[in-house]
Amino acid sequence: MWAETLEGRWGAMESLPLAVEVPRTGEILHPFQMRCTQGVYALNVSRGCAHRCAYCYARAYRDAPPETEIQVYGNLPALLREELDNPRRRKALPRVVSLCTSTDPFQPLPELLRVTHEACQILLERRIPIVFLTKGYIPEDFIALFAAHAPLVRARIGLISLDPRTHRLYERGAAHPEARLLSLRRLQEAGIQVGIRHDPVIPGVTDLPWHLEALFARLREHRITSLDVGHLYVRPGIERLLWRELPRAEARRLLAFFVGRPHSRVAASNVTRLLPPAVRIESYERIRRIAARHGIRTFLCACKNPDLKADRCSGVGEMQEAAGLAEPGRQAELFPGQRWRRAPRRRRKPLARSDGVTGQAAQGDAPAPIGGLAGG
Ligand code: SF4
Repeated sequence: MWAETLEGRWGAMESLPLAVEVPRTGEILHPFQMRCTQGVYALNVSRGCAHRCAYCYARAYRDAPPETEIQVYGNLPALLREELDNPRRRKALPRVVSLCTSTDPFQPLPELLRVTHEACQILLERRIPIVFLTKGYIPEDFIALFAAHAPLVRARIGLISLDPRTHRLYERGAAHPEARLLSLRRLQEAGIQVGIRHDPVIPGVTDLPWHLEALFARLREHRITSLDVGHLYVRPGIERLLWRELPRAEARRLLAFFVGRPHSRVAASNVTRLLPPAVRIESYERIRRIAARHGIRTFLCACKNPDLKADRCSGVGEMQEAAGLAEPGRQAELFPGQRWRRAPRRRRKPLARSDGVTGQAAQGDAPAPIGGLAGG
């Protein structure tokens, strides 16, 4: 039974990695490279992530720090202030900043939370909208800060299952699912828009009907009416992680889905291997059907399904909406040459495999959910 204890909120790890303060150099706001997030700037407060998800692409980076330490950019708030207050850029503030695209902004490390809090404060005081995705527990002082700037904050919470065994196996350092639901409720009570990202779907685990029924029933209780869906994919580094983190039989079963799959380009990687289209379609249709029974609309992430007629680029609508919140006159690019482009609205079509096999139709157009693009 989950209890609201420190351990319960903050994962099932035996011990936490050490927070090591390292100086950040150079410009700290970086424009996104992905199609679905053009015009958004990313800000990472650390290298490494204490949540240690077994499927995390960021953990698989070659230059990721050792698992025993999280490198926190202690000087980031000062640099951020300097960058934003630079007279050359004063009138060209970012439209929206996405927090922690290759780490999580709410890891259970006081040093890191201090840096995240200061960075949020600096951005929000300048009326720069922020978006984030987290699998962590959001402390009260953040809720208070966000409440004071509610229209400028778009939050997304990652939830793959409510099952404690799945949590221990796949996301053992991340906050307990109940703690994430608690964060969801507190954000909602504070008047902040919150969305849910059901990603990655682990085939044969988190897309089983009993997982989905339990999750969607709770989400509906929390007034969630839509969610984004993305399936597990692998890259060489992620495969190594799965072998290392999961019981061998589980890793073997999962990786068997990817045998013989060609490389696809997803985000900045062109060595990504996706689940076979038939597996994704069948799984997504089950998710869609069960979610619909609970009054929840689902959206299949287009970026992670380049070979399917998926619904949309996850996160784009919310980022555009967040960008629209920036004050007029402050919406020029932070960096010359980077242009904000509104993604074209696409009519939804039935899912179709690249080999022409057609699945059932997805739902009609709806506003895109909120988003950052944090790991997973
Ligand atoms: S998937 Fe996200 S929360 Fe999990 S370890 Fe990676 S960055 Fe952290």
